[in-house]
Amino acid sequence: MQDSQNLQQLAEQGIAIASPLPRKSRQAKVVWRNNVVTVGGDAPVRVQSMTNTDTVDAVETAIQVRQLAQAGSEMVRITVNTPEAAAAVPYIREQLDRMGEYVPLVGDFHYNGHRLLTDYPDCAQALSKYRINPGNVGKGDKKDKQFGQMIEIAAKYDKAVRIGVNWGSLDQEIMAELMDQNSRRTKPWETRQVMYEALITSAITSAELAKNIGLNPDNIILSCKVSGVQDLISVYRELARRCDYALHLGLTEAGMATKGTVASTAALSVLLQEGIGDTIRVSLTPLPGEARTQEVVVASEILQALGLRVFVPSVTACPGCGRTTSTTFQELAKKIDDFLRGEMPVWRTQFPGVEAMKVAVMGCIVNGPGESKHADIGISLPGNGEAPAAPVFIDGEKALTLRGEHIAEEFQTLVLEYVQRRYGQKA
Ligand code: SF4
Repeated sequence: MQDSQNLQQLAEQGIAIASPLPRKSRQAKVVWRNNVVTVGGDAPVRVQSMTNTDTVDAVETAIQVRQLAQAGSEMVRITVNTPEAAAAVPYIREQLDRMGEYVPLVGDFHYNGHRLLTDYPDCAQALSKYRINPGNVGKGDKKDKQFGQMIEIAAKYDKAVRIGVNWGSLDQEIMAELMDQNSRRTKPWETRQVMYEALITSAITSAELAKNIGLNPDNIILSCKVSGVQDLISVYRELARRCDYALHLGLTEAGMATKGTVASTAALSVLLQEGIGDTIRVSLTPLPGEARTQEVVVASEILQALGLRVFVPSVTACPGCGRTTSTTFQELAKKIDDFLRGEMPVWRTQFPGVEAMKVAVMGCIVNGPGESKHADIGISLPGNGEAPAAPVFIDGEKALTLRGEHIAEEFQTLVLEYVQRRYGQKA
């Protein structure tokens, strides 16, 4: 009786609407000039990326940083591994400033960061955030000293720091100590559970040390990257439970193309849905000739698909089937998608709100008109046996029908006119 009453009550409330859970972390500020990128707290989940150019080549690196920023990366990390690379950083910053590109730069340090940040103060100041890997700061009694040197510089210039632990360069002293403790347990943990503990311990104890040295805790961001989906979920659930620092999320060495995209999406989606993660990076290995910006596209699409952010207008396209053997709609969908993405760097400021626009490109009459009516602007192309006409729907109403050889170009013009009319600044 009780159960049926509960079921009745639930039925009256309707089906629960799924949405990501909130997590309130500390809020870090990553700043360059008038561009303040907040990470954590109630800030939107941020997209980051990393260059793969030689940092010593300041011009090539500045160009790639700009491409990544234009694609939607809100912070860009660069390798700082040699004195020459450290010396190039202020020039990279200068090039970007000249282009009006104030995206914050993050310096990635391993092994010699304490020396580079000390010897190249202009580099230390030009960077907005330092990434420090506690597994790679030195061994024995040098470890805390060299880590401390970098933290003191970050505190002096009021820079954000990501303490970025990675299982590929895990602090072996912590791991050995935890393995030793584990061997004394009545029921020892699995080795990978010890590894999880070592990753989290390394991140949290390093953060505590940084705080004690004088770094503002709000300027600390943590990450514990691994390359297995289930491992990443296990580690971050526990990391989020144990601290309130902002968390940088990413599957390290995710791999290439489909594999890297799917693995990153699977891992990040589970955590983001649980409210875990304040900034993300998708570590894709580019295919030969593939643009570095692909990792930004994937990261943005993950956040957009989860309903956490909106970056670019979405294109709804059907997969095609035996009702349409033509590839016209596939080509049109790709063309429109490329067009919208290519215009966004300009449209973002010219047409505020355009990123939420929905466009549909459909292959036949079965779902074409219905899906097009749900979009802001949509086209239903003719399937096999249908009259060679493509009705266009605008704001849910049939507006006109396109015919002939130039449907793609004409539809693109209609999309542009729609954007100008709906999102253009009213005088
Ligand atoms: S809209 Fe038409 S062509 Fe596209 S998948 Fe559905 S039935 Fe097939």
